[in-house]
Amino acid sequence: MISEIILGIVWMIFLLYLTRLIKKSRERVYDPFGFRQIVTCKMSCENCGAIWNKLFKRGDFIFKPVYECPTCKKGNVMITEILCLETKIKTKDELKYEKLVEKWK
Ligand SMILES: [Zn+2]
Repeated sequence: MISEIILGIVWMIFLLYLTRLIKKSRERVYDPFGFRQIVTCKMSCENCGAIWNKLFKRGDFIFKPVYECPTCKKGNVMITEILCLETKIKTKDELKYEKLVEKWK
């Protein structure tokens, strides 16, 4: 009887721990200083030299032909640079502060 109760309590703790883990994994990762790194690709046409940007996708590499050039329709658009850009985003504290300010308005 007692052992069943103990087993039940252990199960409850385990389930709570599991749900907390799942919640944590779903939370977005915030940089404490409010920077987010974005990997982008610079693409240019091999014929006319027009330049585009796009977000990096898995499997992208330099000199990969992406699609036919929409402006000159002769050359392929190839990835020429892969860059990591840092952009400033709002930190968790700044978001909290903004919410507080909105409440007090
Ligand atoms: Zn072109």
